[in-house]
Amino acid sequence: KPGSPLLKLQNLQISYGGIQAVKGIDLELWAGELVCLIGANGAGKTTTLNAIAGVQPIAGGDILYAGDTINVLPAHKRLRRGVALVPEGRGIFTRLTVEENLRMGAYSRNDKAGIEADLERVYTMLPRIKERLPQVAGTLSGGEQQMVAIGRALLSRPKLLLLDEPSMGLAPLVVEKIFEVVQSVAKEGVTILLVEQNANLALEFAQRGYVMESGRITLTGSGDELLANPKVREAYLGEM
Ligand code: ATP
Repeated sequence: KPGSPLLKLQNLQISYGGIQAVKGIDLELWAGELVCLIGANGAGKTTTLNAIAGVQPIAGGDILYAGDTINVLPAHKRLRRGVALVPEGRGIFTRLTVEENLRMGAYSRNDKAGIEADLERVYTMLPRIKERLPQVAGTLSGGEQQMVAIGRALLSRPKLLLLDEPSMGLAPLVVEKIFEVVQSVAKEGVTILLVEQNANLALEFAQRGYVMESGRITLTGSGDELLANPKVREAYLGEM
């Protein structure tokens, strides 16, 4: 892999009060990659993703993005530089329409023609959503709401998309659909860091993965390597 990574975490530490939730992790993500971060509940995955987005302060170490240290850069400035977060629980505006939600994603832009073009791109990727533009978002199914959340993030034209458990609370068939959307976003050249409890599916779709346990990264490898790893199978894929 030539050049330098788009994102690099170096000895990243994050604390809640006196409690260290992330205990010095290293992670690298190259432009164009789809990488997943898996691990049990409470391992520190969401905390890590939030820190990269700038909505969670860090206690130590460094976050490097496109060659710059962005440790204390406010979230809205990271967004403008191309770091977009789809948070756990989706965070859509339930009383606004689907179209209003999508346009919210472009609030920091003023290139009108570019925004309209990106809307069209999102409609092509999410035809289900295009049919529902005037509908109030809170009345959509969980899977459709997740698609709106991803679509909204795409309207900021991200270079790095941070996805926090997009499969949460969705039926298996819907989860498959969401992962297909994630893959098509990756194919468009957006670099993706995906946090997932659904390790099996995440590792199937991702090129590489990191396993997090109690605030530390304990394993890393290609999706296939991790899928075949007995420790991963035992701990996360429900095998003994
Ligand atoms: P989940 O899948 O449940 O989101 P996770 O791997 O994303 O799990 P985090 O949510 O990052 O884990 O939590 C890491 C640790 O930090 C846990 O021990 C959790 O209890 C703690 N924690 C998370 N948020 C807070 C908070 N706002 N205040 C105090 N402790 C927190």
